[in-house]
Amino acid sequence: MSMHDLKPSHFIRDIIDEDLRNNKHEGRVHTRFPPEPNGYLHIGHAKSICLNFGLAQDYNGLCNLRFDDTNPSKEEIEYVESIKEDVRWLGFDWGDRLYYASDYFEQLYHYAVQLIKSNKAYVCDLSPDELRQYRGTLTAPGTESPYRNRSVAENLDLFQRMRAGEFEDGTRTLRAKIDMASPNLNMRDPVIYRILRAEHHRTGSAWCIYPMYDFTHCLSDSLESITHSICTLEFEDHRPLYDWFLDELAVACHPQQIEFARLNVSYTVMSKRMLMELVDQAQVDGWDDPRMPTIAGMRRRGYTPASIHSFCERIGVAKRDSMVDMALLEHCVREDLNKHAPRVMAVLRPLKVIIDNYPEDQTEDLDAVNNPEDAGMGTRRIPFSRVLYIERDDFMEAPPKKFYRLAPGREVRLRYAYFITCTDFVKDAKTGEVVELHCTYDPATRGGDAPDGRKVKATLHWVSAAHAVEAEVRLYDRLFVKENPCDDKDTTDFKTFLNPNSLETLPSCRVEPSLAKAAPGSRYQFERLGYFCVDSMKDKPVFNRTVGLRDPWAKIKKVMSNE
Ligand code: ATP
Ligand code: MG
Repeated sequence: MSMHDLKPSHFIRDIIDEDLRNNKHEGRVHTRFPPEPNGYLHIGHAKSICLNFGLAQDYNGLCNLRFDDTNPSKEEIEYVESIKEDVRWLGFDWGDRLYYASDYFEQLYHYAVQLIKSNKAYVCDLSPDELRQYRGTLTAPGTESPYRNRSVAENLDLFQRMRAGEFEDGTRTLRAKIDMASPNLNMRDPVIYRILRAEHHRTGSAWCIYPMYDFTHCLSDSLESITHSICTLEFEDHRPLYDWFLDELAVACHPQQIEFARLNVSYTVMSKRMLMELVDQAQVDGWDDPRMPTIAGMRRRGYTPASIHSFCERIGVAKRDSMVDMALLEHCVREDLNKHAPRVMAVLRPLKVIIDNYPEDQTEDLDAVNNPEDAGMGTRRIPFSRVLYIERDDFMEAPPKKFYRLAPGREVRLRYAYFITCTDFVKDAKTGEVVELHCTYDPATRGGDAPDGRKVKATLHWVSAAHAVEAEVRLYDRLFVKENPCDDKDTTDFKTFLNPNSLETLPSCRVEPSLAKAAPGSRYQFERLGYFCVDSMKDKPVFNRTVGLRDPWAKIKKVMSNE
C-alpha cells in the first residue's frame, strides 16, 4: 500500500485522480505554495503547506515555493526568511524551485502588451475614486470607462510611457477589456497594472508600475507549469478571471484553480493584519510569541511538526468554512509529546520538605523511567537527599474531603523514592503561609512500594533541594477568552477579547539536575504538570509550557466525536 492510500481522501484528491486517469497535464502533479511576504506564517498556512507539499509527495509530483511579492510597500526580507524557515521546519523541501513573482515582472509586462495588441486591454485615466463609482454594485451593472475604446496604438504608447515613469502615481491604470455588465464584479474590466513609485525588496526602483494579484498569479502558475493551483474559497469568484487571462493569452500550460475552505481555529485570530497589530502594539512579544498561532510561535511553544501534520490530516479538506476547536490542535500536540517527550520532575511553586530521619550528609541515586510509553527511552538516576521541594499545592494544613495529597499526619508516595509522612509544618509568622514541612520516610519503601502492601492515595513529584536547578517557567494559556474574537456580527475591537491571564511567569521553579544542560527547543513532560519546551538557557533554563496533560476546557470528547 502506498503512503497516500492510508490518508483520507478528499475532493482535491478525487480531482487529481480523475486528471491522472485522463492523462491531463501528461500525468504530472505540480503544486505551489504562494505566500505573500507580508507577515509570518500561521496554522492556516500550515494547512495549505501540508496540502500542497503533501499532495506533491503522495503523487510523486513537485511543489514550488513562490513568494507572491507584487505589493512592494508591504513586503520585507524578514518575512521571506521566516517563511522559508517555517516551511523547512514543517519538513518540506522545495528543492531548487524557490520563485518570486517579481522574477516574472518583465514577462508579465510582455503578456500585458500582448493583451493590448489583441485589443483586450486598455489604458484608463479614471482616478481610483472614479474607478470605484464606475464599477457598479452587486445589483447594478458597471459603466464603461470613457477611455475603453482607445486605439491599440494609443494604448501601446501610453502603457510604455506608464512604465517609463511619465505619469504620476494613481493617474492611470491598465485594465482588461472584459464586460462591465458582468454579474461577477471581478470581470468588470479589472485593473491589471497600477502606477506606484515604491522600493521593491528585490527589484528596487526598476519599476514604477506593478501588476495586480489576479493577473500575476495565474501567469506565474502557468510559467511554472503548475497543474493544480490550490487556493482558499474567497478566490472562487476570481476563477473566471484566472481562466480568462490564460485563455486570452493562449498560454501553453493552463493550470486548474481549485478552492478549499480556509482554516479558522477557536480562541485565536488568523488574519495577518490582526496578528501584525498585536505585534506592533506589543500585546505579545513578537511574531514568535508562544501564544501566537504563527508557526514560529508554535515552534517556540514546543509544538512538533508531527503534531501539526496530524492536525492538518484530521481536519481534512472541504469546501465549507468552519471553525476548528483549539482543543483538537492541543490534543494532537499532547498525543505526539506523550509518545516522544522524556518525563522529568520539576516543581513550579516550591515548598521545602525536610526528612527528619534521613541522614544529613547522605545522597542516593534512584532509578526513574524516562517514558513508560516507550521502554527504549531507558532510565536515568535522580538524586534524593534530606531536603526536598514538593509542589506548594500538594500540601494542605486542613484538607477538605477529596484532597488525598500531603497533610499533617498523612502518608504519601514520592515518585521513584519513598513513602513519607508529614509530622509537622512551619508557618511564616507574618503571612501565615506554610513555608516548611517536616516529614519522616520509611526506608523499607525504597523505589515507591511498601513490602507490607500498605497503600497510599497520592504520588507526588519532588526534587532534591541541593541538586535541583533553578529555572523560570512560563505558563501560557489561550490568547483570547472568546471563541471567535473577530465575529462578523460583532463590531467590538478583537483586542477587547485578549485573555489578560494568557501568560504567568514563575521565576524560581526547581527542576531535576538532568535538565541542567537541556538543549533549547527540547521538549519534556514535567510529571503531573504537562509538557514543557526549553526556550533558552542563558542565565538559567527557561521553559515554556506547551500544553497541559489534559484539556482543561474538557471539550475534546465533543471535538473528537465530530470527526
Ligand atoms: P491574510 O488574508 O491574513 O493576509 P493570505 O491568505 O493573504 O492571509 P497568503 O500569504 O496570501 O496569506 O497565503 C498563502 C497561501 O496560504 C494562500 O494560498 C492562502 O490561500 C493560504 N492560506 C492563508 N490563510 C489560510 C487559512 N486560514 N487556511 C488555509 N489556507 C490559508
Ligand atoms: Mg493572499
